[in-house]
Amino acid sequence: MATHKLLLLPGDGIGPEVMAEVKRLIGFMNAHGLGRFETEEALVGGSCYDAHGVSMTEDTMRLAAAADAVLFGAVGGPQWDGVPYEVRPEASLLRLRKDLNLFANLRPAICYPALADASSLKREVIEDLDILIVRELTGGVYFGEPKTITDLGNGQKRAIDTQVYDTYEIERIARVAFELARQRRHKVTSSEKRNVMKSGVLWHEVVIDVHKRDYADVTLEHQLADACGMQLVRWPKGFDVIVCDNLFGDMLSDVAAMLTGSLGMLPSASLGEFDRTSGLRRALYEPVHGSAPDIAGKGIANPIAMVASFAMALRYSFNRDKEADLIDQAIASVLAKGLRTADIKSEGSKVVSTAEMGEAVIDEVKQLAA
Ligand code: NAD
Repeated sequence: MATHKLLLLPGDGIGPEVMAEVKRLIGFMNAHGLGRFETEEALVGGSCYDAHGVSMTEDTMRLAAAADAVLFGAVGGPQWDGVPYEVRPEASLLRLRKDLNLFANLRPAICYPALADASSLKREVIEDLDILIVRELTGGVYFGEPKTITDLGNGQKRAIDTQVYDTYEIERIARVAFELARQRRHKVTSSEKRNVMKSGVLWHEVVIDVHKRDYADVTLEHQLADACGMQLVRWPKGFDVIVCDNLFGDMLSDVAAMLTGSLGMLPSASLGEFDRTSGLRRALYEPVHGSAPDIAGKGIANPIAMVASFAMALRYSFNRDKEADLIDQAIASVLAKGLRTADIKSEGSKVVSTAEMGEAVIDEVKQLAA
């Protein structure tokens, strides 16, 4: 059995609390032959700043580059609001994304039947939803140059952002989307604004070209980004994988996420290129939520987003679909039994702590594996 090397970066606030449940799950899986994981752990974010005066040390960067995958909790909090910009807690995450060249952001939107009534949409629209948004993460208008605000001298200013994509950037994100669709329901929806943007014209052309060359077995459709937003709230189950640029992906993934309820339920992955020596894709897995300072230290945070992020690592970094399915099914069945952390509580449910939720998921994994 292959050994998987994980770097754990719990971070600040509820980060260490939810990561503790993943550590417990990893311990269980190691002990019961469900995988072989070696873990290292390091400080990141505000806790690293307090210890070392930076939010990410060079040693930790080296560990991240050497790991098969990085699991990241959350960083930040009001106590670090005043620290210098370049060493603020969030800088650690940006550095990891940049240095590991994590260009593909995967945001699943899954609606567990037990939580369908928590959505703002009707149960029949949302129940059993399982879609995946693939967002380009390192290019586009957030990084394009020029990016300026100029004083025009007549009481007016001019702000410029530049949306820029090269063929290779579109090609590699399209490939990620098509490959993932092959592991799912074989459908990709490419979303851009080719009716008003040149970058959208190129995006559309390149996606069609990649599809024709290498992925003709996957169904490809195109939707303008505004229409895609409408369709996401009208009938989201019509999608499988949606691929889009950095800006549209930022918005569409948040819309899709909120269809399904609490921030405490949402995992994500950021993938890079394949590493020449290990043959593995560089990858970082993290919950979508932040450090939740309002509930930190109370033992009530929902660990499901963090646990589901680990399940994504099993699926996308280690090809351990069976174990990833076990964890996803365990989460679904714990919820079906009525267990809830405070953020997702509803009438008639049993409210449990972070640790109790983590234990319940492990108990379910144990039963399902048997
Ligand atoms: P947040 O996600 O931390 O919290 C928003 C709300 O959701 C809060 O009420 C919180 O209690 C709740 N919540 C979040 N995760 C939860 C969980 N697992 N279980 C139960 N409830 C949960 O966002 P925020 O309040 O805007 O930011 C707080 C800090 O986190 C800030 O310093 C921000 O910069 C940082 N942040 C970090 C990341 C990251 O590390 N990737 C992402 C977003 C925000």
